Amino acid sequence: MSMQDWLDDPENRIAYEQFLEDCEPAQEERPRRRTVRRRETGAQSTRRETGTLPVRRRRMTGRRRRRRLKLRRVLGLALRVLIAVVIVGGLIMLARNVKLPFQIPGVGTGTETETADETGVGIVGQGQTGEAEDDDARWYGAPPIYVQLLTPNEYSRPQIPLTEVNGIVIHYTANPGSGAQNNRDYFESLAETGENSVSSHFVIGLDGEIIQCIPCDEVAYASNERNSDTISIECCHPDETGAFNEATYDSMVRLTAWLCRDQGLTSEDVIRHYDVTGKDCPRYFVQNEDAWLQFRADVQNRLEELEAGTAL
Ligand SMILES: [Zn+2]
Repeated sequence: MSMQDWLDDPENRIAYEQFLEDCEPAQEERPRRRTVRRRETGAQSTRRETGTLPVRRRRMTGRRRRRRLKLRRVLGLALRVLIAVVIVGGLIMLARNVKLPFQIPGVGTGTETETADETGVGIVGQGQTGEAEDDDARWYGAPPIYVQLLTPNEYSRPQIPLTEVNGIVIHYTANPGSGAQNNRDYFESLAETGENSVSSHFVIGLDGEIIQCIPCDEVAYASNERNSDTISIECCHPDETGAFNEATYDSMVRLTAWLCRDQGLTSEDVIRHYDVTGKDCPRYFVQNEDAWLQFRADVQNRLEELEAGTAL
């Protein structure tokens, strides 16, 4: 029996077509070069003339190739659209002069006296309007704040939302002579070591420098049961007495008063860690009640100046 005779039997033909379909994967191994493909097309047409290759197989192969080409075209187009979106997005970000939520290492940790907007440093969290005019009003009287947010981690920046702010808690570092950067870096190191759960929204250093570690709309681990509704400020001190030097004290007053205004609080809402837990923190203000009352009075004066528009 010749091949053609054998194929004339419908059952044999179905079996043969099935056999050819099973062979399909071998098609994937063909070289991709166009010239080779063309040569193959020629070979196929020769085979078609001799009648050894069923029409169905050729049609399927062509459909597959078309589908593959279409997919390649769609993917290419998608890639081009993605690149365009990234470029346009970048240009929009630049045009809007977006404040980045991080600080370039080694920059802005000194005692520069520029205002927050001039240096590009700012404050992250709660109450940011995004409107240039409102932001200008908001930044009035703000001390320079260097934003060095901690890497999110369960020990110092758990990213728990701070939904309301009812107070500002003052702390001392209990680590004489250490600076704002040291304390901020210690909080950061907890992400690796996990040896402690502690942090603070702000740290004020011995030169009056202010570093923000946690956005104001996230919880910091500083004030025990008041973590959930307060903003915390850790303050550096030169010696064991816990007394603050002039530069640190000045920044404490400026930052606390500005935060009070920004959060709609008064100096009555400014408390010591001691007022939450009875802990000896901040030591100098616990041991010297007069100094604490004076600090609150200074914050109130500064707040009134901010509200009256007379603050320098
Ligand atoms: Zn404390």
